[in-house]
This record gives sequence, C-alpha cells and structure tokens, in this order.
Amino acid sequence: MQYTEIMVRYGELSTKGKNRKGFIDRLGSNVRKALHEFETVKIQANRDRLHVSLNGADSDAVMTRLKMVFGIQNFSPSIKVARTFEATAQTAEQMVREQLKPKMTFKVNTRRSDHEFPIDTNEMNTRLGGYILDQFPELTVDVHHPDLTIRVEIRGNGIFLTSEVVQGAGGLPVGTGGKGMLMLSGGIDSPVAGYLGMKRGVSMEMVHFFSPPYTSQQALAKAKELTGKLARYSGSIQFLQVPFTEIQETIKEKVPEGYLMTVQRRLMLRLTAALAIKRHGLAIFNGESLGQVASQTMESMLAINDVTTMPILRPVVSLDKTEIIKIAKDIDTYELSILPFEDCCTIFAPPSPKTKPNLERTRLYEARLDIDGLMQRALDGVQVSEIKAGEDFLNQQEDVFAELL
Ligand code: ATP
Ligand code: MG
Repeated sequence: MQYTEIMVRYGELSTKGKNRKGFIDRLGSNVRKALHEFETVKIQANRDRLHVSLNGADSDAVMTRLKMVFGIQNFSPSIKVARTFEATAQTAEQMVREQLKPKMTFKVNTRRSDHEFPIDTNEMNTRLGGYILDQFPELTVDVHHPDLTIRVEIRGNGIFLTSEVVQGAGGLPVGTGGKGMLMLSGGIDSPVAGYLGMKRGVSMEMVHFFSPPYTSQQALAKAKELTGKLARYSGSIQFLQVPFTEIQETIKEKVPEGYLMTVQRRLMLRLTAALAIKRHGLAIFNGESLGQVASQTMESMLAINDVTTMPILRPVVSLDKTEIIKIAKDIDTYELSILPFEDCCTIFAPPSPKTKPNLERTRLYEARLDIDGLMQRALDGVQVSEIKAGEDFLNQQEDVFAELL
C-alpha cells in the first residue's frame, strides 16, 4: 500500500508530567535527525502523537529508521483519505483485501479528534464494520481479540486509516537524561552498555584508550566503527581517543605484576572522570559484568572506584555473557566486536591479575607514579571527533592498505 504518513505513539514519556513538553520536543528533533536523508518528509510532534508525513518517501525505509529512535512505543503506517465515509470505506476495503485470510475476525476502531465531523466514533465503527461485512461475508467481528483491527482516525485535515502497529525501540528520547561518558573498548560488552544507557535517554560520549604502537590503527578504527553503529540510535556521537601508551609503560615498570591491571583501570577511570568534568558529563558508563573476569569482582570494583566519586553505571552488571551477546547481535555490534584486533588492555594484561586486590596496597603502588604529570600529558593528547550514524572506518583502512601495496 502507498502510505501517506507514519503515526507515532509515545512511550514512557507520556508519564512525565511537567517535563512532557521537553521530552516531546527532544523526540521530535531526534526523529528529524534520524530521517534527515528523506527530503520530502515533514514531522510534527504534537502533545499526544507524532506525525511523519511521507510526501512520497519510501515508508519501509522510513520505518526502519524510526525503529531505532528511543522514546517511541509503536507506530502505524497510515493512509490519508478525504473526509467522507465513501473514501474511508474504499480504503478500508482495500486494506482488508490485502490481508484477507480464511475465517478471519476483525474490528473497526475509530478515534475522532475533530468533533465537527458529522459521523461520531460509534457510528463510524458500526457503519464501516457493516460495509466490510457486506464486501466480505466470510468475515466475523470480534471486538476482543480480532485478527485484524482497522483503525480510523478522523482529524481536521483528513481521515487516516491503518491496520498495522509496529513495535518501537521503547526507552526515553536520547538527550533527556543528560550526558554520560562511555568507556568504550573494542569488546562485546561496552557497546551493549552504551546502547542500554542511550535507551534510558542518556546522550553518550565515547572514551577510548589506545596504546600505539602496541595497538594497531585497526583497533582504533574498530572502536570508531562501533561508535558509528551506536550513533544510529542518536544521530551522531563524540568520540574521544585518549593516548595511553606512556601510562601503561610506566605502570608496567613500577607496579608489581599482580596489580598492573588494577592500577591501569584506576588511571583509565581518573582520566574518564576528568574528561566528564571538562565536558559536563554526569556519570561514567562501562561494560563491566560481575564475575566475568579478574577486574570485574566486587573487590576489584572497590579498588578501582576509589579514584572518583562520580557515579559509575554498569548497565550489563548482572547479565550473563550469553544475554549480552544476544543484545550485541540485535544491535549489530557483535560481528565487529569479535574481530581480533588487540586492544590496550589485552596487551598489558598480566598472566594472573589479582582477582581480589587490596585497596591499601593498590593506593601504595599507585603512589609510585607521577599521576598528575601522566594524566596531564594524556589529556593534552586527547583527540575528539564526531562520528555519524553508520560511518565506516575499517573499510577505509583497507583502502589505505591497498594504496600502500
Ligand atoms: P568489553 O567487552 O567491553 O571490552 P571486557 O569483558 O573485555 O569488556 P574488560 O576488558 O575487563 O572487560 O573491560 C571492562 C570495561 O573497561 C569495558 O567494558 C570498558 O567499559 C572498559 N575498557 C576496557 N578497555 C578499554 C579501552 N581500551 N578504552 C576504553 N574503555 C575500556
Ligand atoms: Mg575488553
């Protein structure tokens, strides 16, 4: 069917009282960003619904994008007809015909926002239901559990019909929850943590530590490409790359092997907290899951968290690896995450890190380092770039390699 508009129903934001307007405005601008490539599309974010007028744009392509916008409960592709019973009946008939199955049940569900219109909801339900029964005598009406619901909405500018409800992404509009800093590795867990944070309305910046020449350009490109995947949920994302080589080399030299990892993590956290303060972030997100590896015991968390009072949110803390992988596959980050480019932690990981580091000892070992100097130099080397939805970095790498060959 040639749809004319997508009618979008809000999710949880409808319960937000006074803030409602802010939520709706934000959702409107997020939808606009998500659909910016469709030049003919017009978006109107009203109090109770958001309307996407297609003006000829491909409805399937638009709906694929809409499915990624948080704050949408569901939406319905609709057809606009003239404000007459005849036009409504004709389109309803066509809708039924396209979805006709043996022994099908149906109902008509009318909503009238224009009370001037002479046919009221009840009358439209019965008249249109009767008309459909006349055309398809094999159908029956079932008002409780119909196989097909024809929804009719009578508005001032036309009558809109739909028979489909498509599930949206749920959550809250990105940006309504403030800014968070995601510690993004190239692994499976942190992109999932980022996705889950964004789902609750957080506008996320990525903080990625890399250690050239120990880590490759490909590892960096992979982290950027993962960012591009996550940016599909928000339009674009700021990517902060933090040079970590000097810190890792110094720690390796000065700290006993069992504590390498704990002290490295403390430095990562100190740097992320410093960046958060500078860039007005309110919390740090990471991909830690309890008990998964040595750095993810509660003892480790205690010894690492010690360096900041900023909230550290761990969206995947209690998920099993299989559950995290399932989400990673759903959001299409899994295949990228399993590419074998070593990141800075794997390279400097001791063979047997302490799973229960002692806090006092951690502090003592860390005191051997010139923390301020190390941090200052790392922060001076931070590079910020804006990454757009679906941007490609690994293929660009191949092109570079091809040129070299
Ligand atoms: P992931 O799959 O997210 O890499 P992981 O199970 O491999 O997680 P760790 O390597 O212990 O776990 O890392 C724990 C968390 O520390 C990661 O989820 C991420 O948030 C952060 N982290 C690890 N390495 C980096 C890095 N190079 N840059 C930024 N953050 C990192
Ligand atoms: Mg990792």
